[in-house]
Amino acid sequence: MINLILFGPPGSGKGTQADTLVERYGLLHISTGDLFRYNLKNNTPLGAEAKTYIDKGELVPDSITINMLRQKVEENPDVKGYIFDGFPRTIAQSEALDQLLESHGGAVDLLLMLDVPDAEITQRLMKRAETSGRKDDQDPEIIKNRLVVYKEETYPVFEYYLAKAVKVWGVGTLAAVQSRLSLELDRIAE
Ligand code: AMP
Repeated sequence: MINLILFGPPGSGKGTQADTLVERYGLLHISTGDLFRYNLKNNTPLGAEAKTYIDKGELVPDSITINMLRQKVEENPDVKGYIFDGFPRTIAQSEALDQLLESHGGAVDLLLMLDVPDAEITQRLMKRAETSGRKDDQDPEIIKNRLVVYKEETYPVFEYYLAKAVKVWGVGTLAAVQSRLSLELDRIAE
C-alpha cells in the first residue's frame, strides 16, 4: 500500500501529474477540488455549501472537507494506495488523514511537493482559465487570494510531514516533471 500526498500551490500541476502516476502505479487519485466541482455541477447540498468558499478562493471548512474525503476513501478500501491531491490543506486535515489511514493500518508514506515559482503559477492559472471554465481561475484577485491561503494555511502541511517530504522542481515538460516524481516514488514503491 502506498499513500502519496501530491502537494504544491494551485496550478503547480498536481492533477495532471496525478493522472499519469495513477496509470503507472495503479493508485486511486483523490482530488478534493474535483470532488467539490463534481458536487457543484450536480447541485448537491455539499456543492451549495462549498460554493461560497470556492468562488472566493477560500478553503472550504475542515469538517466538510474531511467528511467528504473520508467517505471517498471508505468507498474504495481495496486499492493499492491513494494519491491525495489538494488534500490535506490544513494541519487539522493532516491530523484527520493520519487517523483515517491509521485506522486502516496505513500511514502517509511520502509527500511530493511540486515547486513552482509564483510568477509561473499566476501565468499558468490565467492560461488554464481560457479552457477550464473555472471561475476561480478567471480573476487575478481570486488567484492572488488562493496563493495567500496556500502560504498561510497550507504550506505548514509541508512542515508537518517534513520527515516524509521531498521537493521536486515542477517547471519543465510534463514528462520531465513526471520522471522526477517517479524517481522519488520508485524509492518507496518496491
Ligand atoms: P483545487 O482544485 O485543488 O485548486 O481546489 C479548488 C478549491 O476547492 C479550493 O480553492 C478550495 O476552495 C476548495 N478545496 C479543495 N480542496 C480543499 C481542501 N483540502 N480543503 C479546503 N478547501 C478545498
